[in-house]
Amino acid sequence: MIVVFGSVNIDLISKVERFPHPGETITGADHVVAAGGKGANQALAARRMGAEVAFVGAAGTDNFADLALAHLHADGVHLDHVATADGVTGTAFITVDANGENQIVLSPGANAQVKAAALDEIVTAAGDSLLVQGEVSMGETEKALAWAKGRGMTGIFNLAPARPVSTKLLSLVDILIVNEEELRQVAERSGLHGGASDVVEKLASDLGLGVVVTLGAQGALAHVDGQMARCPGFPVDPVDTTGAGDAFVGAFAAALDAGLRLEIAIRQGCAAGALACLKQGAQPSLPRRDDVEALLEERRQV
Ligand code: ADP
Repeated sequence: MIVVFGSVNIDLISKVERFPHPGETITGADHVVAAGGKGANQALAARRMGAEVAFVGAAGTDNFADLALAHLHADGVHLDHVATADGVTGTAFITVDANGENQIVLSPGANAQVKAAALDEIVTAAGDSLLVQGEVSMGETEKALAWAKGRGMTGIFNLAPARPVSTKLLSLVDILIVNEEELRQVAERSGLHGGASDVVEKLASDLGLGVVVTLGAQGALAHVDGQMARCPGFPVDPVDTTGAGDAFVGAFAAALDAGLRLEIAIRQGCAAGALACLKQGAQPSLPRRDDVEALLEERRQV
């Protein structure tokens, strides 16, 4: 089982020709209301790959709460440990301009109330893993990782969005997953220079953990237990890359949970990430195991 400890949001997305100046009102296209949050997206991504997944987070007492959890519920993610916090569900106000640039105002809402104590009631088994991201309190995330370590679980940390993290927190992590920009920020803070593979290797040995970096269309590379593994990207014609990172992380975690080797787990993550680029939005574009296996099979024959 994978326990995902993290955020759940509603995304309100509006397309505009250009961003308004301060004090200005402009008219955009009709907005889209979509469920999101990295925690919820990654829980759904792992579940769609066939893993048993429990999501631990918090939704508000507003009308957005049920909507935010609807896909997770429909796909069979365990939601018994999702708290109801007084106030609003986390909401992201996203505007996208004609160049595809975005501006985002994040209202954390219930995500600010997510507590690691909620994990205590969960029954886990040897070989289970905990998956966390950077969208809920780092203090509570650290406690969650300590909880996982105490139970002999694998701690996977997707440091997204990039933010400063304590060495104490990192010492509790088994596998760190970042994208190129997040890797650049982590490397800068750690005083590391060089190409992605050098930085990944140095970071892995300095911190004593596994490091996976996703490279957009170029795929991903990883350094885990002294082994370097690389997967080139799957060529696709992207429609919308939102959710690609979450698809990668969920599918990678699901592969490890199923006992697959690192190289295979990265390949599965890359295939899921590529497929997530083919549809608009985050949660609707997260692929299912059959689609990922079909793409892997297709590439095997090339
Ligand atoms: P994030 O979305 O967090 O910035 P990336 O852009 O690195 O993360 O994408 C995550 C994964 O999704 C990549 O490792 C890759 O496998 C896949 N992916 C992303 N963009 C593309 C693309 N344009 N073509 C093919 N695969 C992609």
